[in-house]
Amino acid sequence: MNRENTPPSPVASARNLDDYWMPFTANRQFKARPRLVESAEGLYYRSVDGRQILDGCSGLWCCNAGHGRREISEAVARQIRELDYAPSFQMGHPLPFELAERLGAIAPPGLNKLFFTNSGSESADTALKIALAYQRAIGQGTRTRLIGRELGYHGVGFGGLSVGGMGGNRKAFSANLLPGVDHLPHTLDIARNAFSRGLPEFGVEKADELERLVALHGAENIAAVIVEPMSGSAGVVLPPLGYLQRLREITRKHGILLIFDEVITGFGRIGEAFAAQRWGVTPDILTSAKGLTNGAVPMGAVFVHQDIFEAFMQGPDGIELFHGYTYSGHPLACAAALAALDIYQGENLFQRAIELEDYWCDALLSLRDLPHVVDIRCVGLVGAVQLAPDPAGAGLRGYRVFEQCFHDGAMLRCTGDTLALAPPLIIDKAEIDRLLEILAGAIRKMA
Ligand code: PLP
Repeated sequence: MNRENTPPSPVASARNLDDYWMPFTANRQFKARPRLVESAEGLYYRSVDGRQILDGCSGLWCCNAGHGRREISEAVARQIRELDYAPSFQMGHPLPFELAERLGAIAPPGLNKLFFTNSGSESADTALKIALAYQRAIGQGTRTRLIGRELGYHGVGFGGLSVGGMGGNRKAFSANLLPGVDHLPHTLDIARNAFSRGLPEFGVEKADELERLVALHGAENIAAVIVEPMSGSAGVVLPPLGYLQRLREITRKHGILLIFDEVITGFGRIGEAFAAQRWGVTPDILTSAKGLTNGAVPMGAVFVHQDIFEAFMQGPDGIELFHGYTYSGHPLACAAALAALDIYQGENLFQRAIELEDYWCDALLSLRDLPHVVDIRCVGLVGAVQLAPDPAGAGLRGYRVFEQCFHDGAMLRCTGDTLALAPPLIIDKAEIDRLLEILAGAIRKMA
């Protein structure tokens, strides 16, 4: 990192930053030049040094309805006074039942049985376990293999990590990942698809690689395929036109379950409640988290097709699935999720990404001639600007631009040399312009 080129530290504070081991963070870099926010309202964070920071990534892809939503904080405050906690094993309280019904009503067809978790990682591991246990329950116990995809991200549990395909996340654990996992190729193809608007034209044939894996391992040995309809964490990798449909055809033909990880794409990010609906492909299991509570309380939900659930209900009358979390269906999380759903539906936010998509894509694609820009991807209210790597090292240029954006008043994500954007769905055109002006300025200054 060339320190001379980096912006001055936005925070000069006497805080002790030494003892918190920050997740997925270059701790030493961060602590040398911290970025700390202390409050948030609407589209803006406020940094500890009093600056307004436009939230270009909905926190971490989760505050889809913007920040400081009173309806959510008041619902949570009421709930903690009323019932702070209730066990979820062999016991219950009304809220997760109500939430399951509400979520089932907005889910893709048939995905109306809900299992609650506390995060996207837990949702991924839960979905994989349900898939494996389901195959056993229907007498297909040889189906134990799982198939993920290169560049996929399904969180950090050993299950999600094993089917995930981001090398950096896996390396330190490579000998300890689940056996019996294979990966589809990723769909990023800049040579053919650079600067596409919406879904890229080329690459549907990448889904046919699944037929190759089926031929290699035998359909009778494969339980499930898990993919993000759109990979967010790897830098916004979009499915080529027809790709998800083709995966659906192949999995159905071979009795393999299809799992969509919609932890990022769920709750309006692409338009509609889920990407499955926007792109017209219904999986057997769908995982979610993040936007479920608008990021306000940790929670995940796994949407399971009713036929899968019914298969579990055919066995002996006892615990049907030996799986769950102390905080599954936590009262505070349920209260937050119900309030978030009211906002999403009351403000028609699941349509917002569709309404703004053209403007958003035009605005993003207008950055294509800036220095070092090698690709721009956009769909719904998600975007990515990919820069050529600095000869001094991959990721340096992206990180410089990310830091400069924060300094200039916008928070983005950076993955390597890709800057990812996913603003709250309440953003308007003027604020889209502002966000992209800051990004463009940072690229000009720092790239
Ligand atoms: N799955 C996807 C697609 C994600 O993007 C993420 C997080 O970014 C996860 C799973 C993991 O979620 P969490 O960090 O809540 O465990």
